[in-house]
Amino acid sequence: MAGRTRRVRPHRSRLRDRAVHPTADPRLRPHRLPRRPARLDRGEVLRVHRPRRHAGECRTAEPCSRHRLALLVHRHRHLVGPDVLGEPRCHRHGHAGDRPHRRVGLPAGPDEAPPRLDRRPLPGPAPLAGPAARRPLRHAGGTRRVRRRGPDLLRGSTPVSDRGLQDLGDGCHAWLEPPGCWGFANSGLVVDGGQALLVDTQNDMRMAQDLRAAIDGLVGRPVVDQVVNTHGDGDHWNGNVLFSDATIIASEPTLADIRGHWLDPSKIDDYAIGDNAFAEFMRWRQCVFDYTGWRPVHPNQTYAGELALSVGHREVELSELGPAHTSGDTIAWVPHAGVLFSGDLLFTASTPIMWAGPLSNCLDVCDRILALEPRVIVPGHGPLIDAAGVRPVREYLAHVQGFAVESYHAGRSPAEAYQAIDLARYADWPHLSRTYQNIRLVYRELDPERFTADVRETLDLVYGDDHGSWRAIGDA
Ligand SMILES: [Zn+2]
Repeated sequence: MAGRTRRVRPHRSRLRDRAVHPTADPRLRPHRLPRRPARLDRGEVLRVHRPRRHAGECRTAEPCSRHRLALLVHRHRHLVGPDVLGEPRCHRHGHAGDRPHRRVGLPAGPDEAPPRLDRRPLPGPAPLAGPAARRPLRHAGGTRRVRRRGPDLLRGSTPVSDRGLQDLGDGCHAWLEPPGCWGFANSGLVVDGGQALLVDTQNDMRMAQDLRAAIDGLVGRPVVDQVVNTHGDGDHWNGNVLFSDATIIASEPTLADIRGHWLDPSKIDDYAIGDNAFAEFMRWRQCVFDYTGWRPVHPNQTYAGELALSVGHREVELSELGPAHTSGDTIAWVPHAGVLFSGDLLFTASTPIMWAGPLSNCLDVCDRILALEPRVIVPGHGPLIDAAGVRPVREYLAHVQGFAVESYHAGRSPAEAYQAIDLARYADWPHLSRTYQNIRLVYRELDPERFTADVRETLDLVYGDDHGSWRAIGDA
């Protein structure tokens, strides 16, 4: 009950205090400055949802993990608006009967059988070797608060973080999905002459429906006849099902990634079984995302290298810049508007994670993007930026690469390098534990035989040490 009435108190955003908008171009000015921060903040969670209070409401001594997940849903609703996540979903908080709970992986009521825990769990992560196995993983940036602020990601950039369609001018739009954390990805739209090209289609059915409705609400109801999937992660193509009549374009490696997609929403119940961080993360996804009615719709046209597309009288240029974040990353560049849709080659206001690498190619990608001199960049996750916003990402990647190479030659394991790396400059970024994967990537480049791509081990570590967004509730 209290969950309905309590409101999140937004923490002070340095953006709100700005008297003058940092962007001179009036087309980039948001309709209103963001009332809430673009990303989650650990301190905010602690202020708003205290486990003790929650335990009282639930009449239990300690909130179980499922109740903590429900709390997270509450927090997301307040942060990004009720239309993202729909009605509250936890019967313990007075929302029983609002909607079927099975859809989100929560029990329908107190009398329903608990989730099937007798099924065979997925294999757990490989044990760590050496000293890292004996002490918890904490990177240097995550164990202390620094007085000095990290690099201002939004300096000279566009602080647009409200959810929904943002008009970038010249027929270009961004669909922003705060808080930009795991699974909350952005999309892009180019409209001209009654036609529309959509870049990435959102993670779940509800998000994709909201995006579809917003496009349909544009003047002239443009026909979405072309869709570009920037890469093979589900948060960028799961919504293809709502645009299945369009020509769906991706690079050839991206199509292969999508066909072999390891994070299949229809199997999420299986992934969510187990006593490890990976399974816990999947239970969070069950709670937050809605895959009711989902089916895979794959790209039906591939390209290699470069591809020029027409939208009305406008041109959109696709370039294959992978392997970097994934094996076949695509950027979509709209030259006449100076707008770039980068996919997950760029994260803003959070820690980037690179899966395919090598990291040196990720640095080259940053340089390629900077060379275009974009007026505005729609990143895969996080708020809009301009070219200046690319530099902190590049600096971070270069820092990780330099330290990882040094650690490799010093005989450290990737886990030891992760513990030792100084991330104080990036202490403001959520999901710093993604650094572990980025370090592994460098090790893999140096010694591919020894440091293979063990996704499950990596994910268990990255999720297990993640103190932004979803983990914040568990730690509170
Ligand atoms: Zn993504």
